[in-house]
Amino acid sequence: MSDCIFCKIANKEINSQFIFEDDQVVAFRDMNPQAPQHILIIPKKHFANILEVTDKELAAHILVDVIPEIAKILGVDETGFRLVVNTGKEGGQTVEHLHFHLLGGRSMQWPPG
Ligand code: 5GP
Ligand code: ZN
Repeated sequence: MSDCIFCKIANKEINSQFIFEDDQVVAFRDMNPQAPQHILIIPKKHFANILEVTDKELAAHILVDVIPEIAKILGVDETGFRLVVNTGKEGGQTVEHLHFHLLGGRSMQWPPG
């Protein structure tokens, strides 16, 4: 997707500091953080949102391998954290490239609003 900002970040057209990278995934700090630790985890491959994901291995890799590793890197694996996947208009999605928000470093409230 040539006009997708997260594709540009993932393929390094836009210079970003990654806190994690492997062959399929990158993670970087949200530019408008909502918590002391606010990381966006994205597949390098473009999927518009979680409803569009067709790659089960990639989905499992993100959930089973990447998110726990990033939680450890951030030091929130013991304290806990929140994972958010805003989807579509009413879900509050503003960037149409699948991303997982990992929020941590403070106590979270519920309901989220
Ligand atoms: P959404 O609302 O789609 O769930 O989340 C999009 C997130 O991406 C927002 O929290 C926003 O601050 C973040 N964001 C949008 N553009 C950029 C960018 O160019 N760089 C970074 N680091 N974050 C971005
Ligand atoms: Zn994209």
